[in-house]
Amino acid sequence: MRKVFIKTFGCQMNKLDSELVLGRLAGSAYRVVADESEADVILFNTCSVRQHAEDKVYSHLGALKRLKEKRPGVIVGVLGCMAQKEGRSLAKLFGVVDLVCGPRRLAELPSLLEQCNGSGPVVAVDRDRRSSHRAVSFEAGRATGCRPTRHRAYVAVMTGCDNFCSYCVVPYLRGAEVSRPPGDIVEEVRRLADDGCVEITLLGQNVNSYGTGLKPGVTLADLLAMFEPVEGIERVNFVTSHPKDLSRELMNAVASFPKVCEYLHVPPQSGSDRILKLMKRGYTSAHYRELLLMAREIIPGVEIAGDFIVGFPTETEEDFARTLALLKDADFLNCFVFKYSTRPGTAAAELQDDVPLEVKRERNQALLKAQEETSLRKRRALIGSTVEALVEGPSKRDPSRLTGRTRNNCIVHFESAGDLAGRLVKVRITSATPLAVSGDVVEE
Ligand code: SF4
Repeated sequence: MRKVFIKTFGCQMNKLDSELVLGRLAGSAYRVVADESEADVILFNTCSVRQHAEDKVYSHLGALKRLKEKRPGVIVGVLGCMAQKEGRSLAKLFGVVDLVCGPRRLAELPSLLEQCNGSGPVVAVDRDRRSSHRAVSFEAGRATGCRPTRHRAYVAVMTGCDNFCSYCVVPYLRGAEVSRPPGDIVEEVRRLADDGCVEITLLGQNVNSYGTGLKPGVTLADLLAMFEPVEGIERVNFVTSHPKDLSRELMNAVASFPKVCEYLHVPPQSGSDRILKLMKRGYTSAHYRELLLMAREIIPGVEIAGDFIVGFPTETEEDFARTLALLKDADFLNCFVFKYSTRPGTAAAELQDDVPLEVKRERNQALLKAQEETSLRKRRALIGSTVEALVEGPSKRDPSRLTGRTRNNCIVHFESAGDLAGRLVKVRITSATPLAVSGDVVEE
């Protein structure tokens, strides 16, 4: 049996793709190993959303040169978005890459690996974004125990994106938006529940537009209703929501279906209408604020997370002040901030990347600082209350404690002697930091 190692960069969709790839390989004469130095096949599942993510992969590939000299038989594969973007040139760059496989060709991985015989790189990418190739089979891997956590699972409900936000390379790399038939998704979730899964997170680049093109017509709200009867599933989440597609119907569904968690990840990206227009986001900051008000009115206890990009081309101090104001008004539980970097081939790449790196850093820090204050205030407000947490397992920072999450995605740490992973516990909150709350279990 050949030993395979995979390192995943980027988003949840990539994590799921890696899980499914390993599942598929483990079913065909490969054994998964956790240590790169033991592996016969080393795979990097890559991300191209930002230059920084690509730089990390380049650095890993450079570091493999010595290993390839010592063990030329080791197969090195680059999978995912960078593979799609760079194609054959990746193989030439370092001379260590044997396989380049884009995100829509991952289902072919076992046979592509068979073709790697040292006679030159094997390249499988898709130049046509509407090609009929699909990502790795959604079901593969589910039966072979490659899920990182037994009680939680990502479930892809769609692939690709047709939005073409001006800074984003995803629609070019992951292809056209395609929704999975609801019956297939529910069937997969049933199998996951039979295998001990209690929490699912539905994944889509633009999950609110789920169902586009399916016949008969179906919406994400319709899909959410279908998990209510699935025995064993306790919690249903979905990411990522696009503000322009976040409907009242969907908010009503979140409020009315007991299994659907009160948490929305809705990235505004900027608080300046001028920048939002340049980003081709399709909404204004006023509309975004209205959405937050509506969500808080309709969904009791909802928490909202956001993302911002700072330093988009031409962003002035005034534009940034509007972004900072939106972040403060939004009262996010969490917020992720990214410094703009040009992605070749996108519409924004036509604009000059004219905000100096130092200014991007300052704006990044200013947003993070403001969010830290909000995050701490919101978590301190929980002190003295009792929350319900779904236990994930030992805390990463302090393995003697356990970590769980509330329904609205607040991280909770607590002491417990038992292995409670996958169980719901009641925790009385005694302290808070900007990232998490801590407390004592009052009921298991
Ligand atoms: S919605 Fe916009 S940011 Fe999100 S994947 Fe699609 S193009 Fe990229």
